[in-house]
Amino acid sequence: MSELRWHPLLGQWVTVAPWRQERTYHPDAAHCPLCPTRPGRPPTEIPLPDYHIAVFENRFPSYTGEQGRCEVVCYTADHDSSLGAQPLQQVRDLVEVWQDRVRDLSRLEGVRYVFVFENRGEEIGVTLSHPHGQIYAYPFVPPIIETELATGRAHQRKTGRCLYCDVLAGEIGVRRVVEEAGWVAFVPYFARWPYEVHVAPHRHLGSLLDLDDAEAWGFAAVLKNLLQRYDRLFHKPLAYVMAMHARPPGRGHRYHHFHVELYPPNRSADKLKMLAGSEIGAGAFILDVRAEETAKQLREA
Ligand SMILES: [Zn+2]
Ligand SMILES: [Zn+2]
Ligand SMILES: [Zn+2]
Repeated sequence: MSELRWHPLLGQWVTVAPWRQERTYHPDAAHCPLCPTRPGRPPTEIPLPDYHIAVFENRFPSYTGEQGRCEVVCYTADHDSSLGAQPLQQVRDLVEVWQDRVRDLSRLEGVRYVFVFENRGEEIGVTLSHPHGQIYAYPFVPPIIETELATGRAHQRKTGRCLYCDVLAGEIGVRRVVEEAGWVAFVPYFARWPYEVHVAPHRHLGSLLDLDDAEAWGFAAVLKNLLQRYDRLFHKPLAYVMAMHARPPGRGHRYHHFHVELYPPNRSADKLKMLAGSEIGAGAFILDVRAEETAKQLREA
């Protein structure tokens, strides 16, 4: 079991999982554990000669057993592809897989939050290049979600409205990147990363489980469109973290509005924004470019 340690100054949990030191580190394509098990080759994590989308439990999990779960979602059997390069139907199928896993993991004993995310690119420390994302089922609500819930709750009490619906209402054209059936992707006014983008439904939905069929297609389309723009921006695959911010499982938190946040670490084609003293030590982000400018670049990419 991993060890949960309480940080009394920040009021946050820190998870210690020492076995993760042993995890597979930058294998070459011939030894990728996320590829199908090809005939005559050593077995991978997926004991099949091919697959469409595959989900399995992480062999080096941060949370296990009573504490939660860590799953890996392989977007495609094609080692050299990416999420944005998948056909729309494949992304739509993936949305359904995410929905299934969120539904199942939310029901596990002791799980307080289910977080769907992707780390992409060596720049942010990805050790397996095969196109994949992850799902963590946490035994607590993580701090960023707690903060969003607290600001959302306070805004609702004060105004009677959803904070995120108000953010969307204020996101005028200059910071929009793309719109697809009921969804918008935009660089928020308050972005902390140069090419940070939020993807959100116009309708006030709490999680992936609330999407109707048209909205699930819209989500697939807006995500694909944005990720392709990311890769065209500097004519190379752009690294990013993709984080889905849904309501915690259960009936409460009706005021929270589902959205996806993406943070590429780049500030230009060959320069990364490194987190340093102000960001790491004080939590205060400083940017050298305006959201209106980066949104324009992404619109034109
Ligand atoms: Zn692979
Ligand atoms: Zn809302
Ligand atoms: Zn958020």
